[in-house]
Amino acid sequence: MKILLIEDEPGISESVTKFLADNDCICENASSLKNASEKVNDYEYDLIILDLMLPDGNGLEIFKELKNKKEIPGIIILSAKNSIDDKINGLELGADDYLPKPFSLPELLARVRSVYRRKNLSGNNKIVFDDVEIDINRKEISIKNRILDLTQKEFDVLLYFYINRGKVLTKDSIAEHLWGDYSSSNDHFDFIYQHIKNLRKKISEAGGKNYISTVYGLGYKFNL
Ligand code: CA
Repeated sequence: MKILLIEDEPGISESVTKFLADNDCICENASSLKNASEKVNDYEYDLIILDLMLPDGNGLEIFKELKNKKEIPGIIILSAKNSIDDKINGLELGADDYLPKPFSLPELLARVRSVYRRKNLSGNNKIVFDDVEIDINRKEISIKNRILDLTQKEFDVLLYFYINRGKVLTKDSIAEHLWGDYSSSNDHFDFIYQHIKNLRKKISEAGGKNYISTVYGLGYKFNL
């Protein structure tokens, strides 16, 4: 899961980023509205964690930037003010959740996961299709009741493919999703190629279908 944390307090920013990274999320940072606007215009995120009191304005302004996006990320608002107005405005603009400061890191993570599931997976912890079962909490994929031996990145790639099934995913977008912004290097493209090759092999060895097709010159597509 790729997250943008919009937060100007360095202490909070560092601890949240580290905690999320330790829990298998890619977390990018923006410390001002201006910086955040650039990021959301240039990159795609699954989720945004949004502080409201930023040095150059109210965090809610970011919703204006998001209006033009094809896909709106999940949004969790953080606010020290704990004001009902902020909460109502945020939720009316389309925020998915609201967490008053101070908050505990495990609680933030639980909400991040819950918003992500609600937005992308209809709130389910398990996805089942054909003979395949994806267990989001355990980070396990099984085919015909046999658990595949996947690395963390392979699991992430497959889940990302599933969520974007039927769409062509470019190597750039896969690299960004797996390693964060500024990651479109040839090294990363080689890794993607390897991950996909391994995934295809592991799925086919377990008796699964060939779900991942190559779209020449563009990227890959997950077909159900
Ligand atoms: Ca702030």
